[in-house]
Amino acid sequence: SGAGGAMVAHSMLKHNHELKIIILERGDHTDSLDMTSNEVDMLARLYADGALQLSRDFNFQILQGSCVGGSTVINNAVSFNLPAAVLKKWNDAQLYDAGLDETRLNQSFQYVRQLLKIKKQDENAPGQKFPFLNKGSAPFKAGIEALELDKPPNEFNVVEANIDKCFGCGYCNIGCRYGKKLSMLNSVLPDLQRDYPKDNIRIIAGCEVDKLHTSGKDITHLSASFKNGRKLDIRAKKFILSAGAISSSLILLRSNVGNAQVGKNLAFNLGSPITAVFDKVINAYEGLQISHYFLQNPSRGYIMETWFNPPVSQALTMPGWFDDHFNNMLRYNKLSSVGILVPTEGNAEIRNGGLFKRDIKYKPTAEDLKKLGDGLELAGKIFLRGGATHVMPHTLDYLELTEDNLHLIRQNVLKPGGITLGTGHPQGGNKISKDPKKGVVSPEFKVYGYNNLYVVDASVFPSSIGVNPQLTIMALADYAAEFILD
Ligand SMILES: Cc1cc2nc3c(=O)[nH]c(=O)nc-3n(C[C@H](O)[C@H](O)[C@H](O)COP(=O)(O)OP(=O)(O)OC[C@H]3O[C@@H](n4cnc5c(N)ncnc54)[C@H](O)[C@@H]3O)c2cc1C
Repeated sequence: SGAGGAMVAHSMLKHNHELKIIILERGDHTDSLDMTSNEVDMLARLYADGALQLSRDFNFQILQGSCVGGSTVINNAVSFNLPAAVLKKWNDAQLYDAGLDETRLNQSFQYVRQLLKIKKQDENAPGQKFPFLNKGSAPFKAGIEALELDKPPNEFNVVEANIDKCFGCGYCNIGCRYGKKLSMLNSVLPDLQRDYPKDNIRIIAGCEVDKLHTSGKDITHLSASFKNGRKLDIRAKKFILSAGAISSSLILLRSNVGNAQVGKNLAFNLGSPITAVFDKVINAYEGLQISHYFLQNPSRGYIMETWFNPPVSQALTMPGWFDDHFNNMLRYNKLSSVGILVPTEGNAEIRNGGLFKRDIKYKPTAEDLKKLGDGLELAGKIFLRGGATHVMPHTLDYLELTEDNLHLIRQNVLKPGGITLGTGHPQGGNKISKDPKKGVVSPEFKVYGYNNLYVVDASVFPSSIGVNPQLTIMALADYAAEFILD
């Protein structure tokens, strides 16, 4: 029921009102009004593994939603188009050979943008009653301007997002109690239920798909289970996997369905924050958790996004141990933070094995870590020029840095386990390609070797796109709908 699943259901019904669609969602349904600012409770209720999904070596945290609406419920709603250079690479016959029709895909982007009211977040927009942009962005902006980094072709701007009339409560990553984020939970899914009879669209929550069953080239049925152990078999004409990167590959692997590419070439936008300390009150916790981005052109291999957390999440990522950590939390209102996102090489792999029957094998490449080090050092410099007394990368060894010793970031980033690394943007594992030797699904999103099985979610990305992926996933889902109906 996440970005891919809800949107493909929407777009298939848009083309054929007679369809009967059942959406199976592993997570529970949590109404917006039941969302609170109790972070521990909400992380447990809305996130896969209570936000503790880790790679095999425990050095990399992979955040995903597990609730009706999927990761769109707990995301920041930041929306970027698919960069033209990435689409070119995807369609390059020598590389991924994705075979995507650029004109049709652009139409799908436009459609989703309108449907979800995606727009630049503007505090002065008509009807906007409260200031709601992240207050921690102001010193970052000052630093960018001091370094003259805001000049074109660089981009420093307020983000576009599917958020309408935000109250600025600052709890985007644990749902939106006020329904201002137009997530699948608050827009597409309830709109489908309103617009179609219940026979056309059913959502079964708390129901995990275990396995697909086959007869020759057909999927005959799937088996699923509820948390209390109750089992369910579902027969259908067509099956669409939209369980997100990692889970969609796992379902294929568990079912022994799909070619040798399944689970391979998993990539991420690898992220790590840097926190800046000021000698004045900033109150970065007020307002959108992410409100600005900074992108250099030509790209240096990363994007920066101003990003701050409510207290529990901030404490979990705060650098420093014991007294250092305690003292940093005491000055919570004098901090600001920015996240660096590096699109990784597709060198991660998902296997059906290990302790949790979900083995995510990943070690960042030296090249990706170098880009991260470069980005963190530049972000540190920007904050220092914007008035910070010092900056703190989220390293294992506690560092309080000024311009004189900012270079220490790079060597700490390269140390194994030297810095907090994670992602909310897993992508790939079931690549799309015209060539069955390169991909798991065809340009029509059909799993190679099967007549009635499709994958529509972030797992079909041939590579990491380097910007926040939800809009691309939704646009691909709208694009895929007509092929699936054919
Ligand atoms: C904290 C955070 C912040 C983010 N911020 C942004 C942002 O600002 N902008 C942006 O573009 N992206 C953001 N993202 C990423 C974005 O939300 C995801 O990339 C996108 O939602 C993925 O879409 P999807 O359809 O592939 O998977 P999801 O949206 O994750 O949906 C997959 C669904 O499948 C369910 N599922 C999994 N396994 C099974 C199973 N076996 N049976 C049944 N159901 C199953 C899951 O519970 C989930 O609900 C963020 C992510 C996180 C975690």
